Amino acid sequence: MARTQGTSARTQRLIAGVATVLVAASAAIALGRVFQGNGPTLRLLAVGIASAVIATVLERRDLVLATIASVVGLSIAVGLLVFPETTWFGVPTADTLRAALDAAARVGEQARVQVAPSPPLAPLMLAGLAGVWAAVFAAHSLAFRAGSPLLALLPPVALVGFADSVLEDVVGTSDPKGVTAARLRDVNTGATETVPCEGIFIAIGHKPATVLFQGQLEMRRGGYIVTAPNSTATAIPGVYAAGDVTDDVFRQAVTAAGLGCMAALEAEKYLAGHAVVSEAAE
Ligand SMILES: Cc1cc2nc3c(=O)[nH]c(=O)nc-3n(C[C@H](O)[C@H](O)[C@H](O)COP(=O)(O)OP(=O)(O)OC[C@H]3O[C@@H](n4cnc5c(N)ncnc54)[C@H](O)[C@@H]3O)c2cc1C
Repeated sequence: MARTQGTSARTQRLIAGVATVLVAASAAIALGRVFQGNGPTLRLLAVGIASAVIATVLERRDLVLATIASVVGLSIAVGLLVFPETTWFGVPTADTLRAALDAAARVGEQARVQVAPSPPLAPLMLAGLAGVWAAVFAAHSLAFRAGSPLLALLPPVALVGFADSVLEDVVGTSDPKGVTAARLRDVNTGATETVPCEGIFIAIGHKPATVLFQGQLEMRRGGYIVTAPNSTATAIPGVYAAGDVTDDVFRQAVTAAGLGCMAALEAEKYLAGHAVVSEAAE
């Protein structure tokens, strides 16, 4: 009898364990699709597993202690994976906290202006990482401590079902010409919703087309290419960046043309210097 109970308890733990791993994987994949490439998804999967490991190790301890350990683990993961330059040998510092608070304040803004797939920008990665961590930890607690696999489904479902709406259609009248509503479509469920309004403003031009240079040229927040002060020079000699790919302040044709002119002059100077060197070498 005891053996049967032991076996069924083991089976239950195995099922709950597999369910937690599935939560980690599905949450990481769901949030990972927001970002370019597979790297961010793998990082999110790693933090999901780390969160589950901490939850498992402290499963029989006090919930408050387990939660504190989870928060410490989350801080280390955020420091290592989102703001590595602010840590002290991997340990989060006051700079990590400041960077995280600054990034947290920008989550809404970047979610609004960035169209997926987005580069793994710190504010979005912070939100994704904290979401996966919390979902896995909550799911583990509900599955093992509360013994309810069904309740454990709630955190990942809430995470996966986050709003993902695109403009499907603009509804209006032809005489007189005017807008009466916007039809929005949820990209996850396909469900449409009609939102009454009297005007629609399509905001474009907020995302520099720099994916091509990802991993090759240094970029700052928002995917803008970093150039030297008062110059269009990038970190790679002979490569210059000008216009909307580097200017996140003015984003104007007139400044783009000016920067383009600077880049042309700097490129000419670089080529002239190299021509002299190659002539001298001959
Ligand atoms: C709605 C709107 C209104 C604006 N109004 C004004 C205004 O009134 N006054 C003003 O001064 N500025 C205005 N601007 C800003 C202005 O249009 C831009 O600042 C300017 O066009 C930027 O020039 P650029 O050469 O840097 O980039 P772009 O003009 O965007 O040129 C980039 C080029 O690269 C091409 N490209 C992209 N990816 C690739 C690739 N992988 N391979 C090859 N080619 C690629 C694109 O097709 C494009 O032709 C406005 C912008 C918008 C969106």
